[in-house]
Amino acid sequence: MQNKEIIEHKTKKMSQTQFKGLDSDSQVWRNWGGNVEAHPVRIFKPINEEEAITAVRSAIRDGLTIRVAGSGHSFSPLVTTDGLLMSLSELHGITSIDTERRRVRVRAGTPLRDLGPLLWEKGLALTNQGNIDQQEIAGVVSTATHGSGINMGSFSSMVRWIKLIDGTGEVVEIGEDHPQKLLAARTSMGALGVILELELEVSDAYDLQEVITFLTWEEIQDKWESYLMENRHFSFFWCPHDMSPSLYNLNVPKGTPFADRVYVKRYPGALTPDESARSEQNVRRRDRSYRIYPDQDPGNIASFHELEYFVPAKRGLEAVSVAREFMLMKHPDKLYPLEVRFIAAEDSYMSPSYGRESTVLSISGKVGTDYMPYLREFDALMEDFDARPHWGKIHFLNRSRLERIYPALDKFLEVRSELDPNGVFLNKHLRSLFI
Ligand SMILES: Cc1cc2nc3c(=O)[nH]c(=O)nc-3n(C[C@H](O)[C@H](O)[C@H](O)COP(=O)(O)OP(=O)(O)OC[C@H]3O[C@@H](n4cnc5c(N)ncnc54)[C@H](O)[C@@H]3O)c2cc1C
Repeated sequence: MQNKEIIEHKTKKMSQTQFKGLDSDSQVWRNWGGNVEAHPVRIFKPINEEEAITAVRSAIRDGLTIRVAGSGHSFSPLVTTDGLLMSLSELHGITSIDTERRRVRVRAGTPLRDLGPLLWEKGLALTNQGNIDQQEIAGVVSTATHGSGINMGSFSSMVRWIKLIDGTGEVVEIGEDHPQKLLAARTSMGALGVILELELEVSDAYDLQEVITFLTWEEIQDKWESYLMENRHFSFFWCPHDMSPSLYNLNVPKGTPFADRVYVKRYPGALTPDESARSEQNVRRRDRSYRIYPDQDPGNIASFHELEYFVPAKRGLEAVSVAREFMLMKHPDKLYPLEVRFIAAEDSYMSPSYGRESTVLSISGKVGTDYMPYLREFDALMEDFDARPHWGKIHFLNRSRLERIYPALDKFLEVRSELDPNGVFLNKHLRSLFI
């Protein structure tokens, strides 16, 4: 009873503070994209671990399911719940650093935008990052968020230890001495418990030099292999229309026709802060790594909803050619670029790049239009490539397809049942996949 009072008091307090995505008048939580809503009966933003543990135990006692929201940047319905919705954004910052081993422990709610400068002060940096830095560390780890680079893993692959509250309300620490549990927990979509803290393996601090070029479709095909091998990071946006670059704020020369052309982004290599770079043309910026990665300011209002699929890298060019043809011939009215990135193989059971180097293709539908048929057709095309969807983007996975494309699903489910035997951390979306 006492616990319940504490929760209700905090819930009220939280409504007055900011809970990202929450409309405090109607108690509705919305994701950044505006396409997912949650209607929790209870919301809570603990200010320390003890409060988080009390909230979880109290919800379990009251028969509620539990989900945690990060910064709400997933387009898929991962965070929906009619039970308890928690935000760990008050639990942020670094708790310990081992500079020699390049290991750092961080609280779950630490935003990436804070982590970069904090690590830099200690001579360290994240090994890779994606296009934005608004997400929380537990959010990006939980969905295997990634940047680009054929030798670079996702955020999940950086994790060496996790502390979480499991489905019985107990605090569990999972380290490298429990490989099966760790490989399951790294990409777990919040379905194993409430992550409190993580240990990441990071890199020595480094600068990046960003090289931007504009190529034709023929040129990018010719350079595909050499760019992949010779650059730390290589990615590109293929644009179906002259208007496409402006939709993702891609800075291209004014007045240049851009239909069927490519905006290429490369970071040739990591540089120590005082090292001079190899001479390159078309260098747009050089700076600390954490300032170079987030090249897009997503703002507060989404104009697009995204889908992103991982195909085996050895079939990457073929998949991109099929996607280009599909967009040009069947959907010339869809103007958002096709983004293409690359990622190393990794061993986290539910990472979309589990066991295979991948080429990653993403397309977007314009908010306010009926884009679902377009995304569904794209999904069907990519099925021929055994594509695995990004957990945080729109997708059409069902259980039988999940079984087909994730060879280590059983190992993940075994750990899931052990840590959450009563399905406390499952919502409708995850129940359809994991039960
Ligand atoms: C504009 C934009 C740009 C993006 N760029 C990229 C990109 O470059 N690369 C890429 O791979 N993805 C990208 N994404 C996708 C995004 O990185 C992922 O969806 C990511 O998971 C969002 O993190 P978040 O903090 O917003 O978490 P949320 O979306 O709020 O949650 C994601 C998952 O994490 C779980 N979670 C969060 N915190 C905890 C916790 N403490 N304990 C347990 N579970 C938790 C949630 O339950 C949920 O399952 C982008 C998305 C947007 C909108």
